[in-house]
Amino acid sequence: TVVNVGLASCGIAAGAQKVYDTFKTALEGLAVELTFSGCMGMCYNEPLVEVRSLNGGRYIYGKVQPEQVARIVQEHIQGGTPIMDWVVYSDRIKTPDADFIDKQQRIILKHCGVVNPEDIDSYLSVGGYKAIEKALKSMTPEQVIEEISRSGLRGRGGAGFPTGTKWSFARKSPGREKYVICNADEGDPGAFMDRSVLESNPHSVLEGMLIAGYAMGAENGYIYIRAEYPLAIKRLKIAIAQALEKGYLGSHILDSNFSFNIMIREGAGAFVCGEETALIASVEGKRGMPRIRPPFPAQSGVWGKPTSINNVETFANVPWIILNGGDSFSRFGTENSKGTKVFALAGSIARGGLVEVPMGITINEIVYDVGGGLSSGRKLKAVQTGGPSGGCIPASLADTQVDYDSLKKIGAIMGSGGMLIMDDSTCMVDVAKFFLKFTKSESCGKCTFCRVGTKQMLKVLERITNGEGRDGDIELLEELGQKISAGALCGLGQTVPNPVLTTIKYFRHEYEAHIFDKA
Ligand code: SF4
Repeated sequence: TVVNVGLASCGIAAGAQKVYDTFKTALEGLAVELTFSGCMGMCYNEPLVEVRSLNGGRYIYGKVQPEQVARIVQEHIQGGTPIMDWVVYSDRIKTPDADFIDKQQRIILKHCGVVNPEDIDSYLSVGGYKAIEKALKSMTPEQVIEEISRSGLRGRGGAGFPTGTKWSFARKSPGREKYVICNADEGDPGAFMDRSVLESNPHSVLEGMLIAGYAMGAENGYIYIRAEYPLAIKRLKIAIAQALEKGYLGSHILDSNFSFNIMIREGAGAFVCGEETALIASVEGKRGMPRIRPPFPAQSGVWGKPTSINNVETFANVPWIILNGGDSFSRFGTENSKGTKVFALAGSIARGGLVEVPMGITINEIVYDVGGGLSSGRKLKAVQTGGPSGGCIPASLADTQVDYDSLKKIGAIMGSGGMLIMDDSTCMVDVAKFFLKFTKSESCGKCTFCRVGTKQMLKVLERITNGEGRDGDIELLEELGQKISAGALCGLGQTVPNPVLTTIKYFRHEYEAHIFDKA
């Protein structure tokens, strides 16, 4: 029997460390293995404890308190009878929360909450590092790129650029010194996908980077991660050290001619450093500010060398694709959006947490089937995808498919995976103001449209919400928004107005109510 306590940040914040310590004492002298994992996904049920036995199945207990440990040990572990009132998920019996897991399609999250993130042997036991072994032993770099292209994988950081094409640009760029960068600078308010994956299965990301390095001919990689993620950084450092020790990193990996090293760069938490050129500047120790492209990073990136940047989720997909084939991956999803997508479900949602769903699922299915509906019991009003760069989707459009093209068509974006659920008590002008306040303070100030324009938009939004709005303010916001989008240098500025423009588009009456019905 194995007892597995979820010790990602979500679990620890809910008191899981105490639960783990209590189990440690309670299991002394018993033939039971106590271990820990990362995020099991059901963050709304933390602390989570899984009891796993070969013949007895999997039982996950939710909201476990230290006082409950003795009974779990006595009745379930020693007595063999699970306490079903406390079980939130099992592979043996359908629980009320079962749909949260069963309606997902887990590729990236398959081993999150299962493997011990601080033990490479745990990753190896579920087929870890078999993909790099396959690539090195039986595939040329071109074949690896071909397989990734065939899978249809697109960048999960938000822009959705085809990953195989990106790698092929970097491979074709002249020069021997090339770099792979993992963008773990997750900065959207409410988003925690990258943090959870790194805290739960860091080796899967390292393996994805290794395969990328082999494919494009790079020998060095950086993980750019915000310093606010200390647990993810700690587990990455442990993973890198263990991979080096076991020969999965360093020189002549698996007795091949391929060598690869990974370094960690901690960022100070500037939102703009998620932008590729600003990120590169920050890696080089300079102030994180975007620059004009071209040259593109694939031609001249970090230290002026060809560089390919992908985000955490993109890399975490790669080992699965190499092991199972691009065609298997492309069976999930839609025509132009293949595979699955991880979302951080937050806001007014009954089952908030980390979910992975096939592309093409509708927003309604995510909210109601996976997320269990709204926590407040009120009506769904809107869903914000893509954080401050994204848009607010009204409930009337919640049957829209979640894929790159469908979301773009209605003015939203896929983004990196933040999904904020709002009920009908939410003021949409306040929501727009919240996001604009965030991006205004995160603007790096390099270009006037973004630096001054966001300030002016925020001023207008503040006077509207203060009851001092004027006739013409909505049109002014629209004009400013369009001009900032068109004139800003980088993606941050170009998308800053999205939350304002989409809330005006779908909830114009709320702006008008603030301005004209002040009573
Ligand atoms: Fe900086 Fe904004 Fe210009 Fe981007 S658009 S470079 S964040 S000022």
